[in-house]
This record gives sequence, structure tokens and C-alpha cells, in this order.
Amino acid sequence: MEIADLPVPPDLAAGYARCGITELYPPQAACVEAGLFSGNNLLISIPTASGKTLVAEMAMHHQVGRGGKCLYIVPLRALASEKFEEFSGKGLRVGIATGDFDRRDDYLGRNDIIVATSEKVDSLLRNRTPWLAEITLLVVDEAHLIDDPSRGATLEMVIAKLRHKNPEMQIIALSATIGNPEDLAGWLDAELVESDWRPVDLREGVFFQDGIRFADTTREVGRRSKYEDLDLVLDTVAEGGQCLVFVSSRKNAEAFAKRAASGLKLANPVLAGYADKLRSNAGTDMGRTLAACVAQGAAFHHAGLAREERQIVEAGFREGHIKAIASTPTLAAGLNLPARRVIVRDYLRFNAGEGMVPIPVREYRQMAGRAGRPHLDPYGEAVLIAKSEEMVEELFDYYIGAPAEDVRSRCANEAVLCTHILSLIATGFARERDEVLGFMDKTFYAHQGESPLALSRAVNRVLEFLRESEMITEVGEWLEATEYGSLVSRLYIDPRSAETIVTAMVGRKEYTDIGLLHLLCSTPDMPTLYVRRDDMYALDRFLADHRDDLWMEIPWDAGEGFDRSLKTALLLGDWADEVGEDVICERYNVGPGDVYGMVESVAWLVHASRHLAGLFAPHLKAPIEEMELRTKHGIRKELLPLIRLRGIGRVRARRLFNSGIGSLEALRAAGPEKVGKVLGQGIAAQIFEQLEGTRDEIGEVGEEQSTLSRFG
Ligand code: ADP
Repeated sequence: MEIADLPVPPDLAAGYARCGITELYPPQAACVEAGLFSGNNLLISIPTASGKTLVAEMAMHHQVGRGGKCLYIVPLRALASEKFEEFSGKGLRVGIATGDFDRRDDYLGRNDIIVATSEKVDSLLRNRTPWLAEITLLVVDEAHLIDDPSRGATLEMVIAKLRHKNPEMQIIALSATIGNPEDLAGWLDAELVESDWRPVDLREGVFFQDGIRFADTTREVGRRSKYEDLDLVLDTVAEGGQCLVFVSSRKNAEAFAKRAASGLKLANPVLAGYADKLRSNAGTDMGRTLAACVAQGAAFHHAGLAREERQIVEAGFREGHIKAIASTPTLAAGLNLPARRVIVRDYLRFNAGEGMVPIPVREYRQMAGRAGRPHLDPYGEAVLIAKSEEMVEELFDYYIGAPAEDVRSRCANEAVLCTHILSLIATGFARERDEVLGFMDKTFYAHQGESPLALSRAVNRVLEFLRESEMITEVGEWLEATEYGSLVSRLYIDPRSAETIVTAMVGRKEYTDIGLLHLLCSTPDMPTLYVRRDDMYALDRFLADHRDDLWMEIPWDAGEGFDRSLKTALLLGDWADEVGEDVICERYNVGPGDVYGMVESVAWLVHASRHLAGLFAPHLKAPIEEMELRTKHGIRKELLPLIRLRGIGRVRARRLFNSGIGSLEALRAAGPEKVGKVLGQGIAAQIFEQLEGTRDEIGEVGEEQSTLSRFG
């Protein structure tokens, strides 16, 4: 099927043609036949890199051509930016929504395509964003993530709410291969397009001793080192390919990258350039290790990396200079980095309560699917490593020959229901108990025929919690959110977190930084750090001196949960006290990416508690507001006036302050020349341009700017 014959704008077709895309791949043609351009709902369940995004893009252009508006939902922020860039510059107005959760972002409605994470769409729904009613095409990327234990329910509810709002809307769900696509398609009233066609041939095999056993052949892998996994990398590189190696932990990723670097021993000016860049940014041992590995052609990739580090590694690999990346499995879902050979080295993973368990087949598929770069590799290879002869067959049966797991709804979980039912009531989706149940009946959960009795019991328990905590009232049949309930829904925090925060704040006379941080780290919305045995001494010492500063009682049976909250709070306290990033990483045994992840989560909770204080503890509102800026930027109080300026972060603000310039007035008095000596002429000029604006403008800039946005 020729793209030129399809009902898409000629400019789009011409753009594709310039990239050599003139004819549809077979599964893409099947989508057109299934009604892509006639408004039919589709579930497209085909392997990675078989052209799902392109199908969705054509449908979006078609819709906009007929006056429609499209919403493209992705699971991760990093993917949102990737899709935003991919869709931009092709004649349509494209917007991206990933940021703060209590904004309506009305301006985004001016766009033809809006790319957003599912959490952001959920929050837009809660804030009654008007343009959501104008959506005529909803694309759900990675729709199989409805099965994700922590975030799947949000995705499911978002789809259900949008369908309820816009019954005529077309839905295109893109999914990896799953065991029960008919089920998901049935829920979505969608035509199912299912295929295992791939643009590059994929060979899946198991390595044992000195060869990779494929279904019908064996490929010899020569011994080049002491290590089998390294031999597999060197073998591919020797024939001009690249490797992705999936391992079970960050430590293993770093260790393997070092091994690969010393095996590859590459050296060239491009690699040296990457390494210099990494080294100059590196504030931690991890950063320096990464630079050393990259200099020799290998890298590691995990959530502990800072965004700049990730970008350098990804670009270096895409451009073909970095030959091997060792990565944790969490990245298999988001990372669009194909390689000729994918090595799934660790297929066992530690699960709390279960010990070491095999990773799911779907996860294996997602990793294997990264093998083979279209137009660049003659084929892709996915390789598992067996430790014994018997394991070869086991691995074949368990992973290569097995069907992918079924996707199941996650809505039965009460903790999750609590958040979503409050939002249904607060936004007027449901006004009576029966309407709540009626709405829940449209979920995938109900479609899968999971016990309706269990659901209705869970709904009743949730309503009871919401009533007791005074987030809703029930008068006769009528359910209504209180001011508190609506606020919690708009702030997009777990109602249980809100209850914990409000209970502690109401009884608290005096504000303390650590008290607030520890409280927030004790809520279910906050990820907390793992506590090692040697952390205990520091935690105990802290408690001996500062027990009274905490806002929560220390339970007599305080266990690991308490220690984790306290350790995390201490890290965040250090951050807001301007302790250097490298010291924090060392002290708490984390990477810069983790620090920013935690800062981002807590900054949101501080923001939410500021609003909750407005309702329940007005005396705490002002200091919490100050702490909101301090946690966001990682600064002490005295830098607050300076941080409002664009281009000024924690480091520059501190430099100015230490040179005796601690306020906007002091900046004006110092003049561009003196400021230039401290920060460089370019920045100084920028500052004075802003200072010439009105005070209000500067205030607004401060609100908008987020030092965190650079670490997404
Ligand atoms: P997916 O979303 O399934 O991972 P993409 O739509 O991103 O796949 O496509 C993967 C790659 O294949 C992209 O580089 C895309 O430009 C290219 N591609 C997609 N469709 C075609 C086609 N019909 N012919 C040639 N290349 C294509």
C-alpha cells in the first residue's frame, strides 16, 4: 500500500518519502484496512519498531485535517519529549504536558496534538480542563501498561473517563504483544490488528559454552576474553554491530560497562569528546566511572544517571561510537535504542517476599524487540545466556517459545481506587453511589468479569474512608466532595497522604524543616530510600538530638518504614541546605538521577501541603511556602530573592551571595560589571535585562522556572 494514496496531507507524505518511507509495512496496511481513516477504534498489537508510531501519526494528521484534535498518551516523561520532537515540525501545532499537576494548562488547547503522560491527563481531567472535551482522537502508547502494578489503574481510569466525556472519540491503542489482545480490544470496542511481522529479521537464541543456539543453527562465538558475556559483545562489535546488555541491577550495569570498556579498549577523538563532557559535568564517582567507560566505547544506563549523562550516552550509541550499553531492565520499556545484538544476561530479579524470580515473558520480549536497527543491521539477535546444557532448553521454552502474559486490570486495589473515586466525585463524573458503581462498570476491570461483588465492596469501603476523613459528604443518595476533598483531588495526591499530612499539621504549633520533610516522606506518595545497616548509627544520632523537631510520633514498634522515611528526609534536608550533589550522592549511596527524582516528588508534596495548610493550619502556610522554593531549587533561605531570576540556580545564586550580593537591590547597586565578574558577562547581561522589567514579571518568572525541568 502506497502512502501517497492515503488520505494524509501531501506534505506529510512527501516528508516520509524524503526519509525513504513510501510504502506501508504489512501490519500498517492492516491498520488502514481495519478502518484507521474511517474513525474505527484500533488495538494495534505488533512488535517494537514495526511502525506503530507512524500509523498513529498518520491518523492524527487525518483527524486534524477534518478539524479534530488529538491527545497522545505516553507512560514516561522521557517518552513524551521523544514523541513531541518526533511529531513537531510537520505542519501541525504540537504541545507537551508533563509538568505541575494542579494546572489546567488552558493554552495547551491551542495545539492540534497534545502529548502527555497518563498522570498529567488525569490531573487535567481533575482540574476540568476545557479542551479535553474537544479531543476527537485518543492515542494510547504502550497500552499494555494498564497492567502495571503502580500506574496501570491511572491509565485505565483516564481512558474510561475520556470515553465517558467524548463518546464519539476514536481510540488507537498501541501495544506490545500481549497474551489476551482480544480482551483489551473488546473493552475498547476496537478492531484488533495483531502481527508478529518485524522490519528486521529477529533471531532469538541461547548462548552456552562457545556458541549461540538458534532454533535451527548454531553460531560459534570465539573466545576473546575470560568472560562469556564479554565475548558476546566483542563478537558483535568485531562484525560491525553494537550491543545492548540487560542486567538486573545498577551495580551490575556499572560493573559490566567497566568490563566491556576494558575489553573493547577503543580510543578515538569522538569518544574522548563525550568523555570530556561527561567528566566536566561529573560530580560523583558514578559520573567519573561513566566517563572512563565511554572513553573506551562502553557505557551503562540506569535511572541513577543525570539527564545530561543519559543524553550523551544515548546520542553516542545512536551515532555508533559507543559500542555497548549495559542497562537495567526498567529501561527496556522506554528506551528507543536499537542494537544489532541484545544480550539478556540476567533474567532473574529480586522481588521482595519472593526472592529471585524470572522476569516476565513480556519484559523479555520488550528487551529482545530492541534487536536489529532497521535499514542498518542485516538482522537482529536476542541472546539469553545458559549456565548449563539443560538450561538451554528451559530458556527456549520459558522465553523464546512462550506466549506473552495476559494483561489484567489493576483497579481492584483499594489504595488506587481511593484516589480515583475521590476524583470521580470531585469532578462530577459520579454524583451518587450507583453512578460510582456504574462508572466502574465501564472499566477494563469490569469488562474482564472480575467479581462485581468484590468491586462493590471495595467501593463501599473507599466511600467510607472518604466520608470519615471528611473529603466527601453523603446526603441521602447525593455524594459531594467537600472543599478539602476537591482540593486533594486537584492537588493530585493520594487521599491517604492528605490525611497523614493534615492530621500532623493540625496538632503542630511550630514549623521545622525536618518535621515537614519527614512527614511528607512518611506518606504513600513519596518513594523512600533503602536503609543499610551502617545508616542506622547516623539515624539514631539524629533522633537523639532532634526527636522533638519531628511532627509525627515515633511509633514504639518503628520498623524499616520509619527508618526509610527518616533517611530520605535527611537527604532532602541536606539538599535544601545546599549540601553539594556529590556529597549527597556519596553520603546516601545514590546517583544524581535519584536525587532529582526525590526532589521532584517532595517538591510536589510540599506544594500540596502549602495548600492544605491554607485550609487547616494557616500558621504553617508561610514557612511551608518558603520551603517549597527551597526544596525545588536546593537553596537556603537567604538565596530566595535571587532564585527568582531566570538563569540563576543554586550554584550561581550562592556565588552572588558570597560576593555580597544578596538581593535584587544589591544586584542593581552592584551593576553589570561587578556582577559580570562573578558570573560572566553573558549571564550578567541577562540578569540586567530582567531587572529592567517590572518586579511582577520577575516574580512570575520565579514561579514558572523550575531547576528540575532539566532532569526529567
Ligand atoms: P514503533 O512505534 O512500532 O516502535 P516506529 O513507528 O517508531 O515504530 O517505526 C520505527 C522506525 O521505522 C522509524 O524509524 C520509522 O521511521 C520507520 N518506519 C515506520 N514505518 C515505515 C515504513 N512503512 N517504511 C519504512 N520505514 C518505516
